[in-house]
Amino acid sequence: MRRITLVIACVLAGPAFAQATPPPAHNPMLDTIGTAPSAANIERDIRTLVGFGTRHTASETKSTARGIGAARRWIFDEFTRISKACGGCLEVSYVSGIVQGEPRIPGPLDVVSVIAVQRGTADPNRYVIMSGDIDSRVTDVMNATSDSPGANDNASGVAGTFEAARILSKQRFAGSIVYAALSGEEQGLFGGKILAEQAKKDGWRIEAVLNNDMIGNSAGINGVVDNTTARVFAEGTRATETAEEARQRRFTGGEVDSPTRNLARYIDRMADHVPNLDVMMVYRLDRFGRGGHHRPFNDLGYPAVRVMETNEHYDRQHQDLRTENGRVYGDTIDGVDFAYAAKLTALNAVTLASLASAPPPPANVTVEGAVSADTTLKWTRPDAKQAPNLTGYKVYWRLTTDPQWTKSRWVGNVDAFTLKNIVIDNYFFGVAAVAMDGTESPVVFPGAAGSFGGY
Ligand SMILES: [Zn+2]
Repeated sequence: MRRITLVIACVLAGPAFAQATPPPAHNPMLDTIGTAPSAANIERDIRTLVGFGTRHTASETKSTARGIGAARRWIFDEFTRISKACGGCLEVSYVSGIVQGEPRIPGPLDVVSVIAVQRGTADPNRYVIMSGDIDSRVTDVMNATSDSPGANDNASGVAGTFEAARILSKQRFAGSIVYAALSGEEQGLFGGKILAEQAKKDGWRIEAVLNNDMIGNSAGINGVVDNTTARVFAEGTRATETAEEARQRRFTGGEVDSPTRNLARYIDRMADHVPNLDVMMVYRLDRFGRGGHHRPFNDLGYPAVRVMETNEHYDRQHQDLRTENGRVYGDTIDGVDFAYAAKLTALNAVTLASLASAPPPPANVTVEGAVSADTTLKWTRPDAKQAPNLTGYKVYWRLTTDPQWTKSRWVGNVDAFTLKNIVIDNYFFGVAAVAMDGTESPVVFPGAAGSFGGY
């Protein structure tokens, strides 16, 4: 109905009309989601996961009470319960693969993850993914039998993923949302690798992976106690960039504008919907020399970030449970700040909701304007069936040294726009697709360096 009205108005008023009526800048749905996660639910789920004794990837699978087998069956059942509450809106399944001949998995070992897919209504093959890890470890990474609570690393990430599913499954979204509990992280990122390869094989258009790994520690080993910030790690140029793409990028820019970086900028903006939370964007793949389950997605060229606490406590990571000279080691439940984990969950939930509500990111974005006073951006639009809620586009720009997009202009439902008297040399440019409810896609930087892919 609204669409028809707009078409008639355009005929009467001409193309200027579309540009004169930007969608609402603010979507109240996101504020609601930003305060929805329950610390009590997250605590309950972390306690349950810790209760399996160890969730080491090579641990017991037959017991109903202990080991990773019991843990993943409970995770499957919990996703199924969440699905029941939304009339069966989640497709719950195991995603597994046999791993062997690896330093940390001599194998053969069945590495089994659990995923739940909330199918999109308009663009079901476009996916945003939130993940946490099932598995835990102690000092010796091969020790599959000792108690290994993994309360923060990474029951917190799985509990946050459940809670986001509970909240978001109450609504329907244009794009698909995947909630993933991955396995084999500590043994070499195998669960993520298996899922990423499966997604590639099945032709998923992955717009974003938010990998949550340790989201509940607010008192750092550095003595800093801080429950108001989160870190988002985002790599620079794509791992899959070709030599020709790198050559092109050298002349046109893009080294700080990979889709992963623009996903991080998007998440930073989404923190506005979560009270007392700011994002520290970190321009690197992960912590120095360390890894996480977003990396196997980056390896295949997908936009993927690590979301985590700002201050880590190393006595609580990968440690045998023990006390040495009065110093307590181990990743036990008393080290988790559940309210803080709820805030980081909220950051994920608003980001997933906004991405899945918004139209797909613009494809085939180009920019031109060398030796001219003006800069022109062009892009292609999806077909109407895929993006029924698309209302138009916003062009963004910023100084080359600015971390975040600072300037934007609503340009209407067009596929090209010229910024008059804005010199291409002095700024970076991008374009975002906007939905009728005001939600936006990430900003897409022109060329292969910034592309989120096609439609
Ligand atoms: Zn770990």
